[in-house]
Amino acid sequence: MTLAVDESRIQETVGSLSRKMLINGEWVDAASGRTFDSLNPATEDVLASVAHGEAEDVDRAVRAARAAFEDGAAWRKMPHGQRGRILHKLGDLILAHLEEFALLESLDNGKPYAVAKVADVPLAADTFHYMSGWATKIEGGTIPLSAWDPDSYLGFTLREPVGVCGQIIPWNFPLLMAAWKVAPVLAAGCTTVLKPAEQTPLSALLLGELAMQAGLPPGVLNIVTGYGDAGAALAAHPDVDKVAFTGSTEVGKEIVKAAAGNLKKITLELGGKSPNVVFADADIDKAIAGSANAIFFNQGECCVAGSRLYVEESVYDQVVEGVAEQARSIKVGNGLDPTTNMGPLVSAEQFERVTGYIDSGKDDGANVIGGDRIGDRGYFVGPTILTGTREDMTAVREEIFGPVVAAAPFASDSDIIPVANNSNYGLGAGVFTRDITKAIRTAKRLRAGTVWINTWNIFDATLPFGGYKESGWGREMGHAVFNNYLETKTVITDLS
Ligand code: NDP
Repeated sequence: MTLAVDESRIQETVGSLSRKMLINGEWVDAASGRTFDSLNPATEDVLASVAHGEAEDVDRAVRAARAAFEDGAAWRKMPHGQRGRILHKLGDLILAHLEEFALLESLDNGKPYAVAKVADVPLAADTFHYMSGWATKIEGGTIPLSAWDPDSYLGFTLREPVGVCGQIIPWNFPLLMAAWKVAPVLAAGCTTVLKPAEQTPLSALLLGELAMQAGLPPGVLNIVTGYGDAGAALAAHPDVDKVAFTGSTEVGKEIVKAAAGNLKKITLELGGKSPNVVFADADIDKAIAGSANAIFFNQGECCVAGSRLYVEESVYDQVVEGVAEQARSIKVGNGLDPTTNMGPLVSAEQFERVTGYIDSGKDDGANVIGGDRIGDRGYFVGPTILTGTREDMTAVREEIFGPVVAAAPFASDSDIIPVANNSNYGLGAGVFTRDITKAIRTAKRLRAGTVWINTWNIFDATLPFGGYKESGWGREMGHAVFNNYLETKTVITDLS
């Protein structure tokens, strides 16, 4: 196999990274002195040992973030244009290090290097560029009073940063999720402690280095690498004002309980089991390509993966065969091989989980197309389609977070919407049809935070993102994200 990047470049990129945590503008070891290994999921080799942050380190990081917040001159009261310029510069620095970031994402997560170069990294930079503009556009407003003489009293609002934030992110888009969390927090004038996932800490460490190069004052962004207990300590910390979490619904519920101690504000971006509805009048080639992309992009490790495919029965065989054909053409391999379309799953645990769901589908009577383990080293699972499924099957109900789609036909005269909405989740959904009225009517009836029409997996820093039902609380991105990171203060003054 010829790698897209030569071995010396890999050594240099990984070797030059700090393995420590970023606290108060300094790279520090864990208080315990312990480290943990981050593995390459394509080879199962150790990539790097990084600091094993625990509750004591979280506490140090929160104290640094609190000091940086209270010393408002350094960040909160910095002229907002200057704050915006620092964020913009960080976006530029991410682009200037595009290849290093893409390499780290591919090595640490497994995803194809070529995909990280055109998707993860540019979108992360765009998030900083977009949010940098908001730094100067956060404003309150005057409010005409309804019960009092408006010449006697004036009411107006101020929008103020919520304070110290704790941000916990997963492993599926390590850099992009860090950008979604950190960029709006900084634009709002908050300070933060970020905890990356244990499987994929490396790109966050490079982000921390670049943030300092961009001119972020010490303590504004702190990064604690560690396991779930560090995340739990952050969620429970009495001096954190707001916690933002992306990950499983199960852990999301733990966060809610942990945050109750000081009634932190919470936003949650959780799991999904997104329905994809293909009507017979769709552009079938587009529906096949879109349905395959919906589930196989990023190894299926997407919170919005279109993992339930409902196809109108007259085109069911054609669409399922088309998606199966696309699945067969996907080359699964090492993310650094330029011919690879799909990399390994992120970890042994995720491999066991995904293959366990495929087995459970088989045991429940589904037919399995694909679903093979590939090679004997690395966590490779081929694209998989389950047919002959029933709504009560575990593989149809639960989030798999791998390249596994459950397909089922629906009758032309049936109402598919209640079936599509029959899930505890409500993160993403999609509809394929040429009929614009049907498309919009269906989009309106699907209970999901994002609905794609004749496409999938398009995201933009300008567009709010989040879930209905057990897929979460609140919205990230767009200006909606600032509802999470700003308090509204009402001021009433007597004009007499
Ligand atoms: P988790 O929800 O466990 O992990 C997400 C983040 O939360 C990680 O940083 C993790 O730390 C941290 N964490 C774990 N436990 C706690 C806790 N009690 N309190 C605070 N933070 C905690 O996801 P997994 O990695 O275990 O993946 C399991 C399943 O979750 C997947 O198969 C998928 O179904 C779903 N998932 C959904 C994602 C989404 O984008 N919606 C993303 C990732 C997973 P650490 O990893 O270091 O232990």
